[in-house]
Amino acid sequence: MTAQIIDGKQVAADMREELKTKVAELKEQGIVPGLAVVLVGEDPASKSYVTAKERACEEIGIYSNDNRLPAETSQEELMAMVDKLNKDPKINGILVQLPLPKHLNESDVLLAIDPNKDVDGFHPVNVGKMVVGEETFLSCTPHGIIQLLLRNNVKIEGADVVIVGRSNIVGKPVANMLMQKNDKGNATVTVCHTRTKDLAEHCLRADIIIAAAGRPNTITADMVKEGAVVIDVGVNRVEDASKKRGYRLVGDVDFEAVKEKASLITPVPGGVGPMTITMLLYNTVESAERAAKKP
Ligand code: NAP
Repeated sequence: MTAQIIDGKQVAADMREELKTKVAELKEQGIVPGLAVVLVGEDPASKSYVTAKERACEEIGIYSNDNRLPAETSQEELMAMVDKLNKDPKINGILVQLPLPKHLNESDVLLAIDPNKDVDGFHPVNVGKMVVGEETFLSCTPHGIIQLLLRNNVKIEGADVVIVGRSNIVGKPVANMLMQKNDKGNATVTVCHTRTKDLAEHCLRADIIIAAAGRPNTITADMVKEGAVVIDVGVNRVEDASKKRGYRLVGDVDFEAVKEKASLITPVPGGVGPMTITMLLYNTVESAERAAKKP
């Protein structure tokens, strides 16, 4: 079997079109969703992520509020900035780009964000709501993975899902979302990590494998059941002298071999990656809708 490729760019583009329509409808009611992005320091990767997020906002009509602070910004100054954005009615979502410079306390900053504006879904209040199955902002990469599955007609209900990785930003939340008793869940979930006794044995049972280990070739063809769906979250740099920049990006899955066994597979790049920013836009629009409904 040769797998069909899950086109993350296309799913992301479809969702952004839907959001564009929704934003236009909200504007007719006088509501303009607003996302504030806070970047501290000059980290080049963070700068390019922030620029991409701001551009994506503008493309679909979200008001993008850009806050760039010098690397030497103090904890008090950053907390004051978050407090100001919490109180600003034009802002529906606040995103503090991580990692922060080492002298700043990240968890205090994330805790200070109003959970009603936490469009990254990282605030413990929102994580807790997700776990107990209440309406909340679902964090972007895991929710993007679920949208990729649903929009490619993958049956999640009843599926045996194996997740490789247990981080707070991918493995744990996607496991929680997939085990929920709702129409995005009802899967039977196994979470593997570096202390798992026999990773291959678990993977071979899986109808859906979600690889989020951050290590190339973690999933090889001999670990994949014929016809399984394989979602590759990993983004790894491997040396490649044939490329101008000296490296290329690969996922955690041995793509060429695994695609001959899977029924559906995400490429890297162009799979999960394009969904993450899209889900941030989705949460910001949802936040604006919720704010408008409040008395
Ligand atoms: P992380 O915090 O480093 O966590 C990696 C997890 O994988 C850990 O739980 C680790 O186990 C487990 N692991 C590592 N090697 C393993 C192995 N050989 N066998 C079994 N488990 C293994 O990483 P992360 O932040 O979740 O990110 C994972 C990958 O996804 C990275 O490549 C990252 O760049 C990528 N990512 C992509 C997006 C996107 O938008 N496309 C978003 C987020 C992350 P232990 O807990 O035992 O150490």
